[in-house]
Amino acid sequence: MTDQTETYDGDVTLTGHEDAPVALRDPEDVYLRTDSVAGDLEVCNAEYVFTHQSPGGGAVGDPETVVRGDLEDGYAEPDGVTGDAIVADAEDVFVTAGTAGGDLSVVAPENVYSDDVEPPREADDYDVSLTGWKQSGSASDPDAGVRVSGAHHEVTVEKARTDLDVYVVGHDHEIEITGRSASVSVYLLGYDNTVTVGPYLQSEVIADTGFDNEVVEEPYPVEELIETSKSEAFDRAGFGRRKVTYQVPAESDDWCPNCGEPADAIVARHQMEAFFLLGYPVKTYDQSTNPAKECEHCSRSAFDASLTERERKNVLK
Ligand SMILES: [Zn+2]
Repeated sequence: MTDQTETYDGDVTLTGHEDAPVALRDPEDVYLRTDSVAGDLEVCNAEYVFTHQSPGGGAVGDPETVVRGDLEDGYAEPDGVTGDAIVADAEDVFVTAGTAGGDLSVVAPENVYSDDVEPPREADDYDVSLTGWKQSGSASDPDAGVRVSGAHHEVTVEKARTDLDVYVVGHDHEIEITGRSASVSVYLLGYDNTVTVGPYLQSEVIADTGFDNEVVEEPYPVEELIETSKSEAFDRAGFGRRKVTYQVPAESDDWCPNCGEPADAIVARHQMEAFFLLGYPVKTYDQSTNPAKECEHCSRSAFDASLTERERKNVLK
């Protein structure tokens, strides 16, 4: 026996005002945030379920409140349901880590992508936090990271200098993080999401639950390993017999022949002794035939992303 039926058109957000158990009937996609359901959660007859909370519970009892109508997407923010919840006949349902305080049960789904993931942070502990459709956000010098749920969000974070969490829920999000000396932990739940991490950051994918998600690590720029280019060295040589050294990008190797690591950027250090005229070597006396090579891992010109600013200063002392 149902006490209340609430009828809506369009998107609906559960905010904790409905008497529980709350049933959301026949929505399109449903995005549930960490701590949004105080009790148990039952998801039945969904086309796709993407979940960071492992299913294993039993069915929820009859609802007190039924939310229905010409529904589009459904959202539940933290404290969105004060007891149990049922999501019935949705298209895609996204269950963020720690959504339900109780158990999750998934009944008769067509497709399930599931991993057991701990929520990395409290729900309000992010520099950028977006819910809904096609929003954009940005942060500079962040403390915690980014979370998005919904679809088509765009987030840019600059000057990351401390370790961050990036938690992406839904589909078609684009997140870009740049900075130095920090590590980015990436949580992916859904599909067609892209997280791009700049060249001086480290990244780790904690969970990739869904399909067609991508984490792009931007390559270390080879120019940064070049202290003196060939043309700079020749220009400085001026006039007379001179010894010059310069670095050029090495032929396309994937592995550094010096340290053996897989490398984005490899340079060759050349030496040359020649008679220079107007910055041009007119007669060469000696030239390195097997130039030393080095990469972003072993070059002393490289910025070591694994060190903090202070450690790096100590290394350079
Ligand atoms: Zn190397």
